[in-house]
Amino acid sequence: MEPSDEEAESALDRMIDGYKDTQFVAVAARLGIADLLGDGPLTSDELADATGSDPDALYRVLRVLAVRGIFAELPERRFAITPISDLLRTQHPASQREIAVFDAGPWYRAYGALAHTVATGENAFRHVHGMSLFEYLADHPDEARMFDRRMTSFSTAEIPQIVEAYDFSGVRTVVDVGGGEGRLMSAILRAHPALRGVIFDQPHVVGGAGNTLRQDGVADRCTTVGGDFFEGVPEGADLYLLKWIIHDWEDEDAVKILSHCARAMNPEGRVVLAEVVIGAPNSGDDGPLLDVHMMVLPGGRERTEAEFAELFAAAGLRLTRAIVTPGIMCLLEAKPAPAQ
Ligand code: SAH
Repeated sequence: MEPSDEEAESALDRMIDGYKDTQFVAVAARLGIADLLGDGPLTSDELADATGSDPDALYRVLRVLAVRGIFAELPERRFAITPISDLLRTQHPASQREIAVFDAGPWYRAYGALAHTVATGENAFRHVHGMSLFEYLADHPDEARMFDRRMTSFSTAEIPQIVEAYDFSGVRTVVDVGGGEGRLMSAILRAHPALRGVIFDQPHVVGGAGNTLRQDGVADRCTTVGGDFFEGVPEGADLYLLKWIIHDWEDEDAVKILSHCARAMNPEGRVVLAEVVIGAPNSGDDGPLLDVHMMVLPGGRERTEAEFAELFAAAGLRLTRAIVTPGIMCLLEAKPAPAQ
């Protein structure tokens, strides 16, 4: 049904206003207001004192956060937590606090240059920050740790579905290329007690994976290797898994990474990508949104199945299967292309 004029206007207003909400929530998250309100309501002056903020400015922002339902405003400038701000408590099992802070920082600033990207095709993140996303993260350890956790939080729902969807029989060793904090590898090793794994990522990232592996009791079956996948990847494994790696890169770089995997693997080996695959027009918003996210941040793209098949072919591989998981990810399996 067509929206009424009023509905159309308010839908547009909400989108135009979106930039404000990102910053409102980020201020509350950064200052840890929800944590401070965990034991009961406090006045805005008490909150300003506890967070070293300007009392007048903080009150005015809290009043808006209350309008949005993030806090409740009580008489005499007292504020209380609500079910929404409960999710901003650091200790909440599904805490969004760090995500709210992170997304309002370097990513938000990069989105400010979206018009530049549309005009020129140049990467917004590089335009704003003067370096690529991954160079920036290598230079900013605190934000890099937040990024790694942000990636892991994106993956929490997807990991069990990926482990379930793929048949690992016949596979003895798996390399998770760009394996980040190691959650996917750890889930695979727990599900398959005979498998051995290698987590490969940049040196400053793989250090964090050791903790995950030890906590999950699989450290004895997994090594971590630091390196650069444009130089090469660990050799001799049966399966090279790349989850949300290829979408970070334009075709030329993507083919380089895949070629290194093709060269490194056992003759019977395979590559499996876990990616969102772009479907027919209007077939869901995940692909198109992530695609622009990749354009703005790392300077990559989401692809259709046919586009993945072309990348594989350029790397000496052939697409053998596309397995749809119940979530947003698809598993794209490729094996060495027969010699011409
Ligand atoms: N597979 C993980 C992480 C994806 S984010 C997940 O799905 O959650 C992309 C990963 O690629 C990051 O962990 C980043 O450190 C890694 N990466 C980026 N450039 C790299 C390079 N040149 N060599 C190795 N890893 C790299």
